[in-house]
Amino acid sequence: MAESEKGVMSQNFIHNFIDEDIAPGGQFAGRTVHTRFPPEPNGYLHIGHAKAIYVDFGTAEKYHGMCNLRMDDTNPTKEDVEFVDAIQEDIKWLGYDWEDRFYYASDYFEQMYGYAEELIQKGLAYVCQLSAEEMAANRGDINTPATSPYRDRPIEESLDLFRRMRAGEFPDGAMTLRAKIDLASGNFNMRDPAIYRIKHQRHHRTGDAWCIYPMYDFAHPIEDAIEGITHSLCTLEFEAHRPLYDWVRDNISCPYKPRQIEFARLGIDHTVMSKRKLRQLVEEGYVSGWDDPRMPTICGLRRRGYTPASIRSFSEQIGVAKADSTVEYAFLESCLRSDLDRTASRVMAVLHPIPLTIVNYPEGRSETFTIENHPKAPEMGSREVSFSRHLFIEAEDFMEEPVKKYKRLTPGGMECRLKGAYVISCVGCRRDEEGNVVEILAEYDPDSRGGDPADGRKIKGAALHWVDAETAVDAEVRLYDNLFDDAAPDAAGKNFLECLNPHSLEVLKGCKLEASLAHAAAPADFQFMRLGYFCVDNRDSKPGALVFNRSVSLKDSFKK
Ligand code: ATP
Ligand code: MG
Repeated sequence: MAESEKGVMSQNFIHNFIDEDIAPGGQFAGRTVHTRFPPEPNGYLHIGHAKAIYVDFGTAEKYHGMCNLRMDDTNPTKEDVEFVDAIQEDIKWLGYDWEDRFYYASDYFEQMYGYAEELIQKGLAYVCQLSAEEMAANRGDINTPATSPYRDRPIEESLDLFRRMRAGEFPDGAMTLRAKIDLASGNFNMRDPAIYRIKHQRHHRTGDAWCIYPMYDFAHPIEDAIEGITHSLCTLEFEAHRPLYDWVRDNISCPYKPRQIEFARLGIDHTVMSKRKLRQLVEEGYVSGWDDPRMPTICGLRRRGYTPASIRSFSEQIGVAKADSTVEYAFLESCLRSDLDRTASRVMAVLHPIPLTIVNYPEGRSETFTIENHPKAPEMGSREVSFSRHLFIEAEDFMEEPVKKYKRLTPGGMECRLKGAYVISCVGCRRDEEGNVVEILAEYDPDSRGGDPADGRKIKGAALHWVDAETAVDAEVRLYDNLFDDAAPDAAGKNFLECLNPHSLEVLKGCKLEASLAHAAAPADFQFMRLGYFCVDNRDSKPGALVFNRSVSLKDSFKK
């Protein structure tokens, strides 16, 4: 996407805060706005992440600032290089650039450890030997403070134990390092939260160097502070954690003091967004992979034919608010439709082909028509489309016994246009032994080249798409519907697997495409006239064995 096409993110409440912060006298006066996007590399990015990316990178762009990409890999389980690579690819594809600021939170383990010792030395952290169960039992309630018999142990003792925790002397769960904050706080996150735990587990980057790992609430503000982040934008579930974020930030000696601001998570109907559920769909074979075109993942949407511009426009239009809400899937589709309406070439393809023979067009003759690629964009050029006696049309464009108001081909019925070619009228059909219609017969008006009859008579029938049987190429076409029938498969108490739509994928073989598509390769989007927007499948399509995905239908089901 060209810089000029991107547009500037519109003002929202986050930007109001930033404006105050960078104004003279504000906490970041004179500083460059600096944000970060911190995915946990335990799955592929989805459309919810695309919103966060838009907020993080888009805000930095708006203020001519910087946005870092940081793999939040402090948790030693589940991480994988496959995910790290895919995350980078997806963000680049969306059109964002972290330049040389690509980091791993695990690179800061030593510094985090140092800050933990600093807190102990300041009397602001202690080693607690309550087990997880005991800690839960001593958590207190709204009227009763939490308790820990280890809270007032001498600094030296905590320091010694913490060093021995690091040295691997104790088993998992034997003790934790806790921040000494306020056992009576009304915010339970502040009741002396654990900030380090023992976990004898290999880390995919640091290997066996560590057997203690920092908790997210401790690690995150440190990561932000080390990188000099000014505004740490995150989703609403972290709101109640902000006092802890601030406490860590303010009690360590790092000079940078980032500010956390929370915004609403994106939810979309008819899909699930949790990585755990998406992973389950992949691992249990309900979909063909993370990039299955029905998945709400960025790679799934890309394979489905979504464009970076359409996802950006979606993110811009849903806005950034402070209250969670669910957006209609149909709105996402409508954003894609608007983008493709502007940019996709109009071509002809027949999904359910039936032969049509022009009985008065000589056998062996052929001609070509020049057809514009886009009726409203002459700069997109035109192409040659061949025509002969033998064509394919859509089976549903013929009815021997027409229903009321049928405006397509029927023996002796109204004249129809073949788009961009000639006017024809149906003169009959041919059936096989079982009585199935196998060929439609028509006559053309030689004086209607280009589609308008020379005598100016009105053509009452529809304009039909067609392809020349002599030059047509075969393709497989995949049609998609919502992955879930249920509008809220993610809702509490529902088994999302029971909400799957058994008809979410329909595979059509032997579809016929105009010859200009013979060499189509991903990424390429087309409007198949009258049928919808389609793209070349970026995984399965090959020259000679083309595969197309329907990205979105032509009709907008989204009620504005
Ligand atoms: P999950 O709970 O599915 O594992 P996550 O929130 O743990 O997702 P992360 O990799 O930690 O996923 O997310 C990286 C960033 O993207 C975080 O800042 C998070 O707030 C944001 N994010 C994740 N999901 C959404 C969403 N649905 N809408 C907006 N932002 C999101
Ligand atoms: Mg997370």
